[in-house]
Amino acid sequence: MVYFKANKTMFDVLIIGAGAAGLSAALFTSRRGLRTLVISKDVGGQTATTAEIENYPGIGQIDGVELIEKMYVETLRYGCQFALDEILRLDTTETGFRAVGCEKTYEAESLILAFGKTPRDLGIPGEKEFRGKGISFAPLADGPKYAGKDVAVIGGGNSAFEAVLQLSKIANHVYLVHRRNEFRGEKILLDRLREVSSVIRYTPYAPTAILGTTAVKQLQLVNVENDETRVLDVDAVFPAIGFEPRSGFLKGFVDCDENNQIVIASDCQTSRDGVFAAGDITTVPYQQIVVSAGEGAKAALSSYAYLMKKRGKRALRTDWGFQVSGGA
Ligand code: NAP
Repeated sequence: MVYFKANKTMFDVLIIGAGAAGLSAALFTSRRGLRTLVISKDVGGQTATTAEIENYPGIGQIDGVELIEKMYVETLRYGCQFALDEILRLDTTETGFRAVGCEKTYEAESLILAFGKTPRDLGIPGEKEFRGKGISFAPLADGPKYAGKDVAVIGGGNSAFEAVLQLSKIANHVYLVHRRNEFRGEKILLDRLREVSSVIRYTPYAPTAILGTTAVKQLQLVNVENDETRVLDVDAVFPAIGFEPRSGFLKGFVDCDENNQIVIASDCQTSRDGVFAAGDITTVPYQQIVVSAGEGAKAALSSYAYLMKKRGKRALRTDWGFQVSGGA
C-alpha cells in the first residue's frame, strides 16, 4: 500500500506516528510548505484495523484501510515524506530536536507526537506463548485464518463489538467474553451483534488462561460472581480490552499524566516549546478517528505558527482572538 522514502535528515517538522492524527497533521504541515517527515512503525494505526467506519462525517461508510490510504495519498500530493522506523529517544539540539530511531537519526525544528496507543495485554498464562499462534490483536487481518472455526473475543467496548461483528462473518461461533454484565461499547453495535445467532455472550466472565499445544486450543474462564469455571474450545482468541500509551521513552522530555498520556494545551502544545502532540496519546478524551484527525490539524497549525514566530515571520491570524503558542 505504501512507499517509504526519506532522502533528507533535516526537516521543518517531524511527525511521529502515521495514524489519523499523524496523517492529518502531515497534510496540514505539508500544505503550508513545511518540509515534513512522518516517522512510524506502520501506517494507519488503529484506524487501519477498523473494518467499517460509520462515524467519520461526510464519508458515509468506509473501510479503515481505505480511509487511511486516502489520507496517505493526500499527504504525498503536498510533498510529505515517510520513514519506516521506531523512535527510541528524543533530544534537543541547537536548532530544534533530534529523534533517534532504530534505523536513522532525524532532525527538525519542531515535533508533533502522534503515535497513539498500543493494545493492552491480558496478563494471563498462555498469552505470550501463543501470540501469533491463535492470539491476535488484529481481527481484520487475522480473522480469515479462522473461517468456519470457533473463536473468542475478550472485552466489552467498541473494539470488542467491532471485532465480534467482523469475525461473525467468517467464524462458526464467536464467543464474546466480558467481565461484567454491562457493556461499555455503543448500544447501536450491541444491538447489531445481538441479532447474530453465531455470537454467544459470556458475562460476567474473566479469562484466566489460554491453553494449547502448538497453537491455541482452549480459553479458560471464571465467573467473577460465583467462581464457576468454564473452558471454551477455540482456535483463536482476540483480546480487545483497550489500549495503553507506550510513552516511556518521553520521560523527562514532555509532561505526561498519571496514565502516561501526553499533557497538552488546547492548541496541542506540550510542556516543551516547539513540541506538539495529537490523538490518542494525549490527554484529550474521546478516542474517535474524527477527533484524532481534528487534533492533528490543530497540532500542525500550532507547529506552523511556532516556526513562523521563531523565524520572525507572520504566522496565523486567528479569528477567535485565541493566541496560539507560536504567537499568531
Ligand atoms: P475500552 O472502551 O476501554 O473497553 C475495554 C474493555 O475491555 C472494557 O469493557 C473493559 O472492561 C475490558 N477490560 C479491560 N481490561 C481488562 C482485563 N484485564 N480483562 C478483561 N477485560 C478487560 O476499549 P476499546 O473498546 O478498545 O475502545 C477504546 C476507545 O476507542 C473508546 O473510547 C472507544 O469508544 C473508541 N472506539 C470507538 C469506535 C467507534 O466509534 N466505532 C471503535 C473502536 C474504539 P470494563 O468495562 O469492566 O472496564
